[in-house]
Amino acid sequence: MTTVNRQFTLAARPVGFPKHSDFKLVESPIPAPAEGEALIKMLWISVDPYMRGRMNAGTSYAPSVEIGGVMVGRTVGSVVESRHPDFSPGDLVTANAGWQEYSTERAKTLRKIDPGLAPISAHLGLLGAPGMTAYFGLLDICDPQSGETAVVSGAAGAVGSLAGQIAKIRGCRVVGTAGTDEKVRYVTEELGFDGAFNYKTVTDYEAKFAELCPSGIDVYFDNVGGALTDAVWMLTNLRARISVCGGISQYNLEKQEMGPRLLSLFNRRRLMMRGFIVSDYIRRWDEGVKQMAEWYRAGKIKIRDSVIEGFENTPEAFFGMLRGENIGKQLVKVAES
Ligand code: NAP
Repeated sequence: MTTVNRQFTLAARPVGFPKHSDFKLVESPIPAPAEGEALIKMLWISVDPYMRGRMNAGTSYAPSVEIGGVMVGRTVGSVVESRHPDFSPGDLVTANAGWQEYSTERAKTLRKIDPGLAPISAHLGLLGAPGMTAYFGLLDICDPQSGETAVVSGAAGAVGSLAGQIAKIRGCRVVGTAGTDEKVRYVTEELGFDGAFNYKTVTDYEAKFAELCPSGIDVYFDNVGGALTDAVWMLTNLRARISVCGGISQYNLEKQEMGPRLLSLFNRRRLMMRGFIVSDYIRRWDEGVKQMAEWYRAGKIKIRDSVIEGFENTPEAFFGMLRGENIGKQLVKVAES
């Protein structure tokens, strides 16, 4: 076994879209676990939009990564050595180990994976934070009803593709937006969305939503914000519900766009909009995992991963996801299990 650990640390805080020089590839000896810890070998690393926020200075809902600190992230790995009775070598676990090939983690922060539920990488998508974001962010905030129309932006991504399929399970007419024609075909032809459009080629969003949502919009699961969101708001029905999951259209802007200007719609139409962070639902996590696994095994939810091989390609996987190159969950495959 190698004795060298490789890590990506934050070298600089990005201005606008992040670049390779914002990260540094660092080598150090593989650490030994202390009492109560386990040494984890990373198999899969998740790259996610929230990591862009963690590269900025200042705390938002979670602290920033320090300059010189290892980039944060959820991982799937196998236990190499354990100094805790609950874990043994070979156990598969999820961890918050970040962008590195080996890490020592406190046993109480690890979750054992049941490899029978779904592919192990699904614990970073369907059965991990993206799945729980879609499940709780849609059902708890919007409570979609059969016959209603639900719009999901970022529809072909990790969270959006799941949120749209859950809205279908609830009996909604589901319309999505995505950044390529291939993604539009994916959500309509493979995932069963009733309609979708490419927001990079359509110019009049409001007219397109009006065409695809002839009965107006009752539920909006918003992953992107910006001009798409303005158009959705214009077409909301009385008592529509809006879940503010994310606003990726704004994450790489050097100057924040200001707004909104359409708030009078909220009292005229009794709209409800709520933001959330998936960790708000930590106490209900097992419920979400159980339901998503059931729907997956019953063939009611489909998943797709976009995989980049090789730890050294983690920054490229992150940039590609921010550029919209992924369909479904963007992952880095670090090693075979
Ligand atoms: P993802 O959708 O799998 O990947 C990001 C996608 O964002 C890209 O594939 C790209 O797809 C799209 N995108 C990039 N720039 C964009 C722009 N300027 N305008 C519109 N779309 C753009 O990522 P994810 O992990 O599922 O996250 C989706 C959203 O959920 C993000 O906003 C994220 O911050 C949020 N989120 C929130 C929570 C929470 O706790 N609230 C948890 C997880 C994720 P296109 O080709 O379609 O542009």
